[in-house]
Amino acid sequence: MQDRTYAADVLAGESVTIAGWAHEIRDLGGIAFLILRDTTGRIQVKFAKDELPDDLVETGTGVTRESVVSVVGEAEAEERAPTGVEVVPEEVDVLAPAEPELPLDPSGKVDAELPTRLDNRTLDLRSAETKAIFSIRAEALRAVREYFREVGCTEITTPKIVATGTEGGTELFPITYFGREAFMNQSPQLFKQLMVASGLERVCEIGPIFRAEEHNTPRHLNEATSIDFESAFITHHEAMDVCEGTLRAAYDAVATNCEAELDVLGYDPAEFALADDAFPRLTYEEAIERANATGELTEQLTWGDDLTTEAEHALGNAIDGHYFVTDWPSEIKPFYIQDYAEDPDVSKGFDLMHPRMELVSGGQREHRYEQLVEGFEQQGLDPEAFDYYTRMFRYGMPPHAGWAYGAERLVTSMLDLPNIREAVLFPRDKQRLSP
Ligand code: ATP
Ligand code: MG
Repeated sequence: MQDRTYAADVLAGESVTIAGWAHEIRDLGGIAFLILRDTTGRIQVKFAKDELPDDLVETGTGVTRESVVSVVGEAEAEERAPTGVEVVPEEVDVLAPAEPELPLDPSGKVDAELPTRLDNRTLDLRSAETKAIFSIRAEALRAVREYFREVGCTEITTPKIVATGTEGGTELFPITYFGREAFMNQSPQLFKQLMVASGLERVCEIGPIFRAEEHNTPRHLNEATSIDFESAFITHHEAMDVCEGTLRAAYDAVATNCEAELDVLGYDPAEFALADDAFPRLTYEEAIERANATGELTEQLTWGDDLTTEAEHALGNAIDGHYFVTDWPSEIKPFYIQDYAEDPDVSKGFDLMHPRMELVSGGQREHRYEQLVEGFEQQGLDPEAFDYYTRMFRYGMPPHAGWAYGAERLVTSMLDLPNIREAVLFPRDKQRLSP
């Protein structure tokens, strides 16, 4: 729309054309107000009934809530208006009327259940709270990308239709690919590893992953956004440094650039950034000892057990912040993670935990061909099926490490959202395939 002025930019004394949604109509008798909302905020349009033509008043005040309206008028200072300015209309056009019955109330005055909100996501996103979540998500991802660039990553895009899974067969979505069986990719893992042997060396990707998770949990999606990093010639501890760097960059950027959005969600931007202390790095052995010592576990953990949700929560409460768990038992980490030469039962895999959930998995990768193929066999996988991957380990694969985390888990944990579905526009779960 030519010469349109955003609500936030309307200045007293100017002639303006504003456009947006009819947020609220308040009729006080002799005077009525139309509150117009656009992506920048709200602006008041004043209808002094005695001073304006009847048809103009009728159009402007008879409009249904959430209709799309444009107004041409004069902006005047008015200290009682929410933004200190109001528009006196000369012309009002209803560009797209909304039906009087709305499936949910975007003003947020009437709460709606999550399923209703997700069924009507477009309307839900007109509410300040929902919109704030996605503005913050965008800012966090922007900051992560920028951090990746600063540490010399090349951003890549790997295939999402693949011939074999990465993490074993159970969580794959099969598809038909010209009569052949194929799958939706669970992770860029194998492809990003191949890239460290290419001329690119250090890569990142932010893209979709697909997992046929059977369980309906507040932290699993069937389609998620994976933030991946992989680099040649680094150790897993250096990979952890980069991982922590991206998270700090995301929190800092949100604290600095999303003050209004944080405020809408009830956060004080000044207290939002992460504490300066580096995230503690506990070995798996220390982690289970510490979890057992909390006295909060119904069942004590012994070496070799995966950390249970209960143990994650107990540790999270004890540490009260992000922490890495390193040196996991080899048998509960995937085949592509390297084991310590001096103790092959212990791997160089790590997880980054948030008090509420696992955020990141990563590790030093096995770059030696023979050991890699052996690892496949130990996990009951057929190395032949992964020939496209293993073959490249015969032609100069440098030592390398990397990690991945879900963008939705980052946002969910950052904003303490009750459900991961809040952090994705159109969530895919076992029940939900549309919108
Ligand atoms: P969990 O044990 O919590 O199911 P995972 O260990 O299976 O996760 P990884 O394979 O390690 O997950 O994937 C790396 C990261 O990707 C996870 O730490 C998480 O942040 C994210 N992620 C994995 N699966 C999902 C999912 N189904 N929904 C949302 N995020 C996911
Ligand atoms: Mg994991």
